Amino acid sequence: MSKKIIYKENLGPFIKPCPGSPGRINCNYLIISPAMGCPYNCSYCFLNFYSKEKNICIFSNQEKMFQEFKDFINLNKNKLLRFGTGEFMDSLALKQLNDTNLKLIKFIKDKENVIIEFKTKSTNIDPFLNIEKQDNVILSWSLNPQEIIETEELLTPSLEERLNAIKKTIDYGYKVALHLDPIFMSEENLAKYLNLIDIIFKNIDSNKIAWFSMGGFRYTDELKLAILENSKNIKNYLAEEFIKCNDGKFRYPRYLRLKFYNLLGEKIKSKNPKIKLYMCMEDDFMWESIIWGKSSVTKCLHTKACLL
Ligand code: SF4
Repeated sequence: MSKKIIYKENLGPFIKPCPGSPGRINCNYLIISPAMGCPYNCSYCFLNFYSKEKNICIFSNQEKMFQEFKDFINLNKNKLLRFGTGEFMDSLALKQLNDTNLKLIKFIKDKENVIIEFKTKSTNIDPFLNIEKQDNVILSWSLNPQEIIETEELLTPSLEERLNAIKKTIDYGYKVALHLDPIFMSEENLAKYLNLIDIIFKNIDSNKIAWFSMGGFRYTDELKLAILENSKNIKNYLAEEFIKCNDGKFRYPRYLRLKFYNLLGEKIKSKNPKIKLYMCMEDDFMWESIIWGKSSVTKCLHTKACLL
């Protein structure tokens, strides 16, 4: 059943630092949220339990959001600020937010220290192709093998549709970011992810990738319950072996995560060694154990040199 869109005031702050996870490498990312909720309903999405509000809520007091945005940027003129709108929603899936997105972009047009990332699985890129492109605007896509899209991201555009949207965005002059997250790290899926990397680089100019992230599927007790409650089919991925980590999240065993990050990371780097590759919500131990990034580990994404 499709979700309803409602308009409601946001009584809290619009800008929040990305919470990351205790003990994990944090990349000083800032979240700005014009809405909360998403029409796509991916089986593993934390939004399934995060809010009691089951509708998609677009915040009606957006003048407050723009004021906070302006004040924050003015207070931090000497720092590189990296914002993203895709934490509590898909950045582009709601056409109702097209104008808001364009206003955010316009606002940072001459702000060289500010970058904004729009993270999506959608193909709603036309608004961005009808304005002059900006180097401090990054459109980014989460990708998964088509077989996983068909079981876990049922309502989203296919891999092929997403890749076409990425190509158009690059052809227009934007840089893009790519996220393999969540990666479902069962042994049988490894070949699918290696193949996905081949498909990506067959279709996309690697020099236009601003950054590339990988993150294994992880969950909390609350998310596991929400997945089980929302799924009509048994989720085999929950039956894999998981270990409770010291931040309270369950992750695949370390040896398996390392195997995936190394094999996928090496393959990505073999396509273009200059790609800025990082892992999402992993600890120091994992960063020290990976073999693909010893000389160019992109642990920290908040230095300007790293991004542009
Ligand atoms: S697209 Fe992202 S925000 Fe939307 S349901 Fe899927 S994981 Fe959640």
